[in-house]
Amino acid sequence: MQIIRTPQELQKTCLPWRFSGLSTALVPTMGFFHAGHESLMRYARAHAEKCIVSLFVNPSQFGPGEDLAAYPRDFERDARIAESLGMDVLFAPEPGAMYAEDHAAWIEVPELAGTLCGLSRPTHFRGVCTVVAKLFMLALPQTAYFGEKDWQQLAILKRMVRDLNIPVRVEGLPIVREADGLAMSSRNAYLSPEERAMAPALFAGLRRAAEIAAEGEKDSVRLVEAVRAYWAEHLPCGREEYLMVVDPESLADKALVDGPALMAAAVRLGKARLIDNIVLRP
Ligand code: AMP
Repeated sequence: MQIIRTPQELQKTCLPWRFSGLSTALVPTMGFFHAGHESLMRYARAHAEKCIVSLFVNPSQFGPGEDLAAYPRDFERDARIAESLGMDVLFAPEPGAMYAEDHAAWIEVPELAGTLCGLSRPTHFRGVCTVVAKLFMLALPQTAYFGEKDWQQLAILKRMVRDLNIPVRVEGLPIVREADGLAMSSRNAYLSPEERAMAPALFAGLRRAAEIAAEGEKDSVRLVEAVRAYWAEHLPCGREEYLMVVDPESLADKALVDGPALMAAAVRLGKARLIDNIVLRP
């Protein structure tokens, strides 16, 4: 596995792959790998001739007061995992290599970025879109894989490549969970043992809504109330940031679950901000 530190070297390595017709895959990450990241890398390895994983804690997607400095990191361990999963390239640039001091170009998809996580993180998706667009120009993969855990990110990036004709297929893969249902996340490392014991209630509440929807409840307000009642009992220390039912593609609010609908939530538990989602089907 080649470890690449500069954008120029990544382009020099990857553009010839793409133009020679090799199938190439990119898995963008912020590192501190868990089974969710590993499933993306495994899927890439099984579906492409050349696989690139990027590890970059992207400063521009963190707001003031967020956890940029505290974000968990373990480069040596991540590099071992990427190598063991057969990645051809690990791209791990320093922030200064990705952003000039006077960096001024940004990509935004405001229609989809103003809801859900965008309500409390107004500049987050601008940072995500910009860094992912840069990674796409540098590696020019045929396909890039993202987790459905960050559903809004996936919807925004699909719209970005469509609207800007970026020749990369953005594909989403299912959420990988702990045995007790908690969605894997690098940020789970922030949970105390007591908070960790309570955290599976986040997804259990969403699953409760999916059951009620499958039994015929279509009213989003009632579905949201059912989840809140569950959390009040089982997740008393959690502070809800949002809990919404939206269209899975446009992310517009959905008052009625009359087709597949996304129920998405963010909850603060101690120092951690946990997100999760489930597709409700009538
Ligand atoms: P991150 O390092 O948290 O930015 O995540 C890198 C990629 O892994 C993103 O596409 C995430 O959606 C994906 N990912 C994170 N957690 C999970 C998970 N539990 N299951 C599947 N994919 C995940």
